[in-house]
Amino acid sequence: MNIVVIGTGYVGLVTGACLAEMGLDVTCVDKDKEKIAGLNQGRIPIYEPGLESIVAENAKAGRLSFVTSLDQAEKTEDTVFFIAVGTPPDGDGSADLSHVLAVAQEIGENIDHYSVIVNKSTVPVGTAEKVKNAIQVEIEKRNKEVKFDVASNPEFLKEGAAVTDFMRPNRVVIGTDSERARVILHEIYAPFTRNHERTIYMGVREAELTKYAANAMLATKISFMNEISALCDKMGVDVESIRLGIGADSRIGYSYIYPGCGYGGSCLPKDVRALIQTAKEYGFQPKVLCAVEDRNNSQKHILFRKITKKYGDDLNGLRFGVWGLVFKPGTDDMRDAPSVVLLEALIAAGATVLAYDPVATEEAKRMFPVNWFNHGHLFLVGDQYDALIDVDAIILVTEWKPFRRPDFNKMHGKKVVEF
Ligand code: NAD
Repeated sequence: MNIVVIGTGYVGLVTGACLAEMGLDVTCVDKDKEKIAGLNQGRIPIYEPGLESIVAENAKAGRLSFVTSLDQAEKTEDTVFFIAVGTPPDGDGSADLSHVLAVAQEIGENIDHYSVIVNKSTVPVGTAEKVKNAIQVEIEKRNKEVKFDVASNPEFLKEGAAVTDFMRPNRVVIGTDSERARVILHEIYAPFTRNHERTIYMGVREAELTKYAANAMLATKISFMNEISALCDKMGVDVESIRLGIGADSRIGYSYIYPGCGYGGSCLPKDVRALIQTAKEYGFQPKVLCAVEDRNNSQKHILFRKITKKYGDDLNGLRFGVWGLVFKPGTDDMRDAPSVVLLEALIAAGATVLAYDPVATEEAKRMFPVNWFNHGHLFLVGDQYDALIDVDAIILVTEWKPFRRPDFNKMHGKKVVEF
């Protein structure tokens, strides 16, 4: 058995490296030539603790290789293809499946032996069927008869703890109706669940929906707590006491109940939106999910609202320090991050921003408009205390550890207002 992982991003690279770490031969494919050239020279394109060393060790051992197209990957009997490409939101919020289906087409053009195709990308119910059809069409175009199965194996890793999550999953969900695919996938994941069985087998459609339901549940907890926090603000109640008081209940737990400035990242926002869209396609109005999204969209403006409450709507001539740009500590991912909404609002209101993030300076340079830098609206500084120089307020956005206990001596003398 050999493994081909298509899409070498946060999920694909971690999947490929961790499977290789357990002794499998893995080829990672990505159409991004620069990314693959970098990986072949030992450069990791993302910030993910623990990833660099396992990529380096497995590449050195010859178990992990990187190529730019599927036809360069070795394919034998029982090759397992993991699809791990992006499923970004379409205009209406539904998942854009064009990358997944392009990969399916490519697999159909390339397989000559029985293969298992595993959807690791987060995809709506019914996608496995579309993948199967796309592969079959290509096989028939070549006048071949090749057997294959399509399974769903959604990924639950957390950015910032992705390697640990993959190596020690709290569950592995496998959706398949094929006994042959089930046995192969069981063999692949057995080393990860040796301590005790944590694999949950189900139907393909059930597995597809499980991923969305999991992310929607997490988003619901966050939005619920943000709503309680907004209510606390109105009533002059300390939300931290509420968090401790409810988290102690094991039915609720302490995870995902910190109030904040809204959930971001590449998963929760897009997956909640996509699930809402799927529900609507089935003629169902998902009231809770719509409220969760609504609360989050408004929560992303909370820090800006606090600023304008104090300084008014016109921020011309004011300077603000921003600590943290990524959507959560431990990653360099800024997709859908609350910091983006905040910076857009501050700069539109005329403010100057000095921003510091421990790992995302390069990502921020890539993401923010070049005229913000050219016209002096945004300065990315290399030290957290440089973000305080002559500022009117410091805004803490991402709870990176160095911000938890700042050096107040270094902050002393700077013109800073705390919120
Ligand atoms: P990503 O954007 O980091 O990586 C996707 C990669 O796929 C890119 O490198 C891109 O170049 C490549 N790609 C696109 N089309 C291709 C093609 N036709 N052939 C080869 N490569 C191609 O995405 P990601 O964050 O790893 O997410 C991938 C999927 O996993 C998404 O569906 C996402 O929702 C899901 N997911 C993500 C996370 C996460 O924490 N990032 C967690 C669980 C699930």
